[in-house]
Amino acid sequence: MFNKILIANRGEIACRIIRTAKKLGILSVAVYSDADKNAMHVEAADEAVYIGPSPASESYLVAEKILAAAKITGAQAIHPGYGFLSENADFCKLCEQDNIAFIGPPAKSIAAMGSKSAAKTIMETANVPLVPGYHGDNQDPEELKRIADNMGYPILLKAAAGGGGRGMRPVYDEKQFLQSLTEAKRESLSSFGDDHMLMEKYLAKPRHVEVQVFCDKKGQGVYLFDRDCSVQRRHQKVIEEAPAPNLSDVLRKNMGEAAVRAAQVIDYVGAGTVEFLVEKNADGKEHFYFMEMNTRLQVEHPITEMITGQDLVEWQLRIAAGEDLPLQQDQLQVRGHAFESRIYAEDPKQNFCPSTGKLIHLQAPFEDINTRVDTGVRQGDMVSGFYDPMIAKLVTWDKDRTSALKRMYKALGDYQVVGVTTNIDLLKRIASSTAFRDADVDNNFIETHSDILFKDIENQSNADIALAAFYLILRRQQRRQMMSQLETHSPWQLVDNWRLNQPQVHRGSLTIDKVSYDIEAEQVSQNGVECYLLRFSDTEFTISGHLDGSTIWADIDGYRISASVVEQSDFLFTLIGRNTHLDFILDSPDMGDDQQDEAGKGCAAPMNGRILEVFVAPDQRVNKGDNLIIMEAMKMEHTITAPYTGVVESVLCNADELVDGGSELVVIRNTEDNS
Ligand code: ADP
Repeated sequence: MFNKILIANRGEIACRIIRTAKKLGILSVAVYSDADKNAMHVEAADEAVYIGPSPASESYLVAEKILAAAKITGAQAIHPGYGFLSENADFCKLCEQDNIAFIGPPAKSIAAMGSKSAAKTIMETANVPLVPGYHGDNQDPEELKRIADNMGYPILLKAAAGGGGRGMRPVYDEKQFLQSLTEAKRESLSSFGDDHMLMEKYLAKPRHVEVQVFCDKKGQGVYLFDRDCSVQRRHQKVIEEAPAPNLSDVLRKNMGEAAVRAAQVIDYVGAGTVEFLVEKNADGKEHFYFMEMNTRLQVEHPITEMITGQDLVEWQLRIAAGEDLPLQQDQLQVRGHAFESRIYAEDPKQNFCPSTGKLIHLQAPFEDINTRVDTGVRQGDMVSGFYDPMIAKLVTWDKDRTSALKRMYKALGDYQVVGVTTNIDLLKRIASSTAFRDADVDNNFIETHSDILFKDIENQSNADIALAAFYLILRRQQRRQMMSQLETHSPWQLVDNWRLNQPQVHRGSLTIDKVSYDIEAEQVSQNGVECYLLRFSDTEFTISGHLDGSTIWADIDGYRISASVVEQSDFLFTLIGRNTHLDFILDSPDMGDDQQDEAGKGCAAPMNGRILEVFVAPDQRVNKGDNLIIMEAMKMEHTITAPYTGVVESVLCNADELVDGGSELVVIRNTEDNS
């Protein structure tokens, strides 16, 4: 076995590999770019080597830099993780030349699967079923069209060198064919420098089912069962599960054996995944068809680990070091069911656009034998625009599918992320949808169910709004107490100046999702308990409770609830509890803290954001409370008003401008004091 390995990757997968290396007593070397100087994987490794600027093309993708790092640290092997150089046959060859073990298959196996056409030809010889179609050399457009016409539409055009869905076009009838071929070829040429095309029958409702295989250097192969990854967005997996539900034992076994044949025919070594499409044909029976083989460890390998009880990274290391397969096929069995949710910093409502920024607050669910969190970030880290914005892989396991899915839903509700937008709400909606619960999945799942998955929340829960308002009241009370403690040590000063038995009413307003709520809070005593009657939007709540650090404990009309509040700035707060994630803006200082009230009187931007409208100009007279500026931050509008009556001296921002939190926007000469 190796004494020291280098991990040519970053983030969660680097941390994952380091964990197994530690378990086996192997030293690990991390590599890092500028953006990753303080990253978790660097801290977790025994040694770390700087490999250059943040863009991956100048660091993680530069083979020479990785090899140089391995040489100076004396690493005997390189684990490429997934992505980056993991399926680069040239990099694998360079490792072989430098006598450094590549923890993966030999270069020729990677190369054999590099072209979809060549891979299909090889699979044919190994008797692995293919989607009917054409993957020959003839690329004459008229000839391709003739073949497509004979196959019958719809067909799918695919770039032989393709990946990530690029160079792929469905064609629904013969009239579209030549135009689509031109487009697909053009896209393929610009993405991969090659425009060789193949064609497949376009399956209407296929499922994506893949098989985990392992081979050792003696040519022995096993499969560690299957995973269903049908729930995808833009060809990227969203929730995976193992084993794939609702497959007959015969189909499962045939698919597993076909996957091992596929690996053995290309002299495969190590971990690989053979991806299949599974579809019911007109005969009502399910059939499987080879799609492609990924010659590396997959992102979703943890669910296979959960159902087999095996450490796949350990298997990879043992095999790369020349050991035999740790177990034979008859020693492997499926235990229970597992799900993986990919927690991403992205906005599903903005076409899954990545959301970058600082992870101001990050709390993962509690890990135990049923729940696992694979991550590469901590609270306070940045999600940068340079790399994949995955925050974590959340994995749950239980003895059956229903119980494992329940655990997933609960764990998603316990995941707290503030600072970036995430897909957690979408994941929860998928996990709780009837179709997913019934395992009624195919590759079009997200599009088919988009009405329920992306529906806006029409009404914020009034109880959450009450809780947010109550937090501000308690916070104000707490700060007042602290102030009076500082001012005098007399215990009589500790109480707030609100008097019992004499109702006191506070008014204030909060903005949530661009809606402003005017809130009235009346302090009363009920059965000896100090509480508030909170009124807004024609509702009234009786609320009592206390604040413990950033956690609020409340009783709302007899319903006990607790939540955490993260203060993103003096004005912007996030309330997070089980199934609650509410950003709210304190509009009126009356509900806030006295000191903040003063601070809030400036005309500075309360947080980073964009100016929407400017209402004032230099020399204009303004009265206290007049609207000066509307800005947008965290997808909410915030109005900045004049803190006192005066004359505008200067306006320091323009509409549409991006401004930093705290920067001065308008300067007003106070005329109140002189009057
Ligand atoms: P890429 O390598 O570009 O990701 P794949 O061949 O892996 O391309 O296919 C990507 C996705 O496209 C699959 O996960 C599946 O959803 C869909 N797909 C691929 N081939 C077919 C087909 N013949 N019929 C229907 N859908 C397909």
